[in-house]
Amino acid sequence: MIEYVSTRNPSIRVRSSKAILDGQAEGGGLYVPSDLDLVKTDYHEIIKGDFRSMAKAVWNIFFDDYGEDLIDELVERSYKNKFSSEDITPLVRTRSSSTEAYVLELYHGPTSAFKDVALSALPNLMSAARSMNDFTDDIMILTATSGDTGSAAIQGFSDVPGTGIIVFYPHGGVSDTQRLQMVTPASSNVTACAIRGNFDDAQTGVKRLFREIPKPVSGVALSSANSINIGRLVPQIVYYFSAYAQLIRAGAIADGDKIDFVVPTGNFGDIMAGWYALKMGLPVRRLVCASNKNDVLTEFLNTGHYDRKREFYKTTSPSMDILVSSNLERLLYYVCGPEHTVEYMKQLEQTGEYTVTAEELAELKAVFTGIYAGDDEGASAIRNVFESDRYLMDTHTSIAWACMEKYRKASGFPEVPAVVLSTASPYKFSAAVLEALGQELTGSDEGNMNKCHEITGADIPAGLAGIFKKPIVHNDVIEISDMKTYVIEKSNARG
Ligand SMILES: *Cc1c(COP(=O)(O)O)cnc(C)c1O
Repeated sequence: MIEYVSTRNPSIRVRSSKAILDGQAEGGGLYVPSDLDLVKTDYHEIIKGDFRSMAKAVWNIFFDDYGEDLIDELVERSYKNKFSSEDITPLVRTRSSSTEAYVLELYHGPTSAFKDVALSALPNLMSAARSMNDFTDDIMILTATSGDTGSAAIQGFSDVPGTGIIVFYPHGGVSDTQRLQMVTPASSNVTACAIRGNFDDAQTGVKRLFREIPKPVSGVALSSANSINIGRLVPQIVYYFSAYAQLIRAGAIADGDKIDFVVPTGNFGDIMAGWYALKMGLPVRRLVCASNKNDVLTEFLNTGHYDRKREFYKTTSPSMDILVSSNLERLLYYVCGPEHTVEYMKQLEQTGEYTVTAEELAELKAVFTGIYAGDDEGASAIRNVFESDRYLMDTHTSIAWACMEKYRKASGFPEVPAVVLSTASPYKFSAAVLEALGQELTGSDEGNMNKCHEITGADIPAGLAGIFKKPIVHNDVIEISDMKTYVIEKSNARG
């Protein structure tokens, strides 16, 4: 039986369905499986089927209170007919002028970014957790977004029984593509609302709402869908196994060979899922944590010093523009133990920095390598891989590609296959991708997307191509001070 414990309070122990309902543990900790011995498994048992059967195997281990029949049903509901690839997360071999690697495409879901993999799953896990815990209120998800999370969450929660979602985004602060992905979905349980303010205002506003509306309003309880929920993390473990299975199938590795993963990182959720895969027994040699110019994790993994008191850069890989990587707390819990984790998190809140011990750093370094690449290096990677192989990467994937090349140079081109995780479709970031290729912009997102399509000849994902013609159904623009009234009105309308 797997229990989830709070990283900041070992006396809080719950089963997985409760951890998923709660999101964050009381007192600000994150839920983690307390005993990693219980997730150890023979990876052959997981990789023998297709993606959905791998998902069932992994979920059954981590979410053991749901029961196999329910897990079967939830996995089918989460992934059937939602992704444009049979493999869900296909692996593609590609090269630049100097090296060759595999790219794991995580963006074939409804909104063309990797968050779809987890946000297709979380709403179904939450909906089922409601009845398992005799929870009678509807769940209203509140999310602030700078772009990618909002649309993936809207798609994930659309028409899921017992749930609703309101996404707040900064008015004028997201790309046209991102805005249309949020304001055109028409399911009756989803809402997108612009606020007059920036992303930080939206996020602060949502955090305040959780404090100010703690009790259910009209039979509706508030919850969040951000990446600290264990129900978002576990579904991401699956594609590390899927990548390994695809490498064997392609004859690229022999069964048992170790491989490297290179992960474009922001909140440390994606790469944390890779670490759990390793702990389960997947043959992984190293996890390369790729950052953009916001290189707080690179410094941390090289020196043991985490310091968020630094300049914040807006880059062409905006989903990685993060100075506090929340999910790192989970790794600290296992490597540094609960007491040190509490202490480090307190120091981070109070002084903006902390330093782990030499032994702890050595343990981190045994698995993780931290590397960063700037916008210019990412742009070169896009151009270079496209010129070498006609393969087009987005601006987040290209940061990881550039880090993979640096890593290989530094370690003398080891013969270990590297899998670069690709977190967004290039069409989603058409403008920056065109600039990387040295092309003129057209003046609109739709024009830029079409121009990318002309250059590559590859189809624009259906979900993206369609948004420019869909009617806009969410027109609200509100002041930050009106967020509370807005949520209460929407809740009353549901309850
Ligand atoms: C969210 C996101 C990331 C970062 O993933 P984390 O789990 O936060 O580390 C990278 N690329 C894209 C496109 C994303 O949307």
